[in-house]
Amino acid sequence: MSKSNNFYITTTLPYVNADPHIGHAMEFVRADVIARFQRSLGKEVFFNTGTDEHGQKIWEGAEKENLTPQEYVDKYSERFKDFLSLANISYDAFIRTTDQKHIEAAKKMWQICLDKGDIYKAKQKIKYCVGCEMEKTDSELNEEGRCPDHPNRDLVITEEENYFFRFSKYQKDLLALYERGLVKPESKQNEIKNFVSEGLHDFSVSRLKTKMPWGVEVPNDQDHVMYVWFDALNSYISTLNWGIEDNSELFQKFWTDGEVVQYCGKDNNKSQSAIWQAMLFSTGLKNSDTININGHIISGGVKMSKSIGNVISPFEIVDKYKEYAIFPEDVLRFMMCHEVSTYEDSDVTKKSIDQAYAAYLQNGIGNQVNRILKLSSTYLNEKDTESIISRLESSQLSSDYSELLQNYKVNEALHMVTDKIKSLDEYIQEKAPFKLIKSENEVEQEEAREIIRDSLYMLGDISHHLYFFMPNTSMKIYNFIKDNQMPEVPLFNRI
Ligand SMILES: [Zn+2]
Repeated sequence: MSKSNNFYITTTLPYVNADPHIGHAMEFVRADVIARFQRSLGKEVFFNTGTDEHGQKIWEGAEKENLTPQEYVDKYSERFKDFLSLANISYDAFIRTTDQKHIEAAKKMWQICLDKGDIYKAKQKIKYCVGCEMEKTDSELNEEGRCPDHPNRDLVITEEENYFFRFSKYQKDLLALYERGLVKPESKQNEIKNFVSEGLHDFSVSRLKTKMPWGVEVPNDQDHVMYVWFDALNSYISTLNWGIEDNSELFQKFWTDGEVVQYCGKDNNKSQSAIWQAMLFSTGLKNSDTININGHIISGGVKMSKSIGNVISPFEIVDKYKEYAIFPEDVLRFMMCHEVSTYEDSDVTKKSIDQAYAAYLQNGIGNQVNRILKLSSTYLNEKDTESIISRLESSQLSSDYSELLQNYKVNEALHMVTDKIKSLDEYIQEKAPFKLIKSENEVEQEEAREIIRDSLYMLGDISHHLYFFMPNTSMKIYNFIKDNQMPEVPLFNRI
């Protein structure tokens, strides 16, 4: 791991042929948790996201909605921006692959790979899955000769002359990269290691414009456009002005000299951990330092689908909890980390979200805030709260918790916080300051005040640990403590 003070983090760029779904929400929220945590350590953070906007699926989608491809991507790109602000995602850059600077960077990378002999023209039959926007080798197809992820889509077969990327050349380099550790979790690193060990086939990287024109034009060849994945992977560095400025300061600072962390879903392991890394080798640029592969979210034991009716939309979650929570986006953020495993597949239903809301938010932290603030606002004075605030201001995150977030274990870290909430509840229940304070005995009264002071401090400490996950809720709790005032409206109302 790099000891640099500069931290670069990016999500994959969602493909904009539909609204943001729950998997996107999970990735955005997690990258945001890590970005906020790293900033709190004093690191300089560059948090990138954006939208992937070329390729056949966009071309088809635009036609269906009777829009030009540009109008179509403008519309859906805006939906993603809306979602980012709805979910309070603290990104620094939003790159669109139709941005002029991105297009220039993609052409530059193409040219470097071409000059190096890593892109060449050949006439080979290729099978392309538009669902994946990826070429498929026969070993990747099912028994019927179809893409296992998109069995209902016919593969596009092309036999005309095309450009190919010399993927096979980088097998050894890639294996050495995995030896040093690139992919988390280990199971996903093993998966990609096995894929690369079995031998790599060169990929087609372009398509005849007459067949599909919605892409970045190949430099010096007006007949071809780049396949979408080749241009899209560039976005992680075009966002830093690589390829546009001769010596981009941003690129130098955050990529070359920074720690580079990427997030993606498990269907992206091959493109992020192998293809993108091979492109970086070819271009002579530094490789990524860490690639985090999220699991999938299923619902009721099966994949979410419109026909089953088990789709959970992140917009709907925020909309529903508007009625009950002051910060409904924090409910979504909580669910994406607490109810979904860091790396494994997780099952989430509308019912399980409601249950977690009741257990951890309404009866957990929400109830605790009311209970403690009711006691402190009745029995503690200004001097008490001042001293608690000054203690809180110099307090540190627990080292176990920090270590979890250093290692991207968002689920485990948030569970540590909900465990703290539970322990504090037990402490108050056991010490019963609400009874003790009513005693005639002054020593016992003072003892009760000490327990209330401790509880208030622990509540502040919990809200500090909650900040990365639920920023607005955390700051609100901190302000309640500072003002020593009970909330007028509960943070989390009963459903
Ligand atoms: Zn496919």
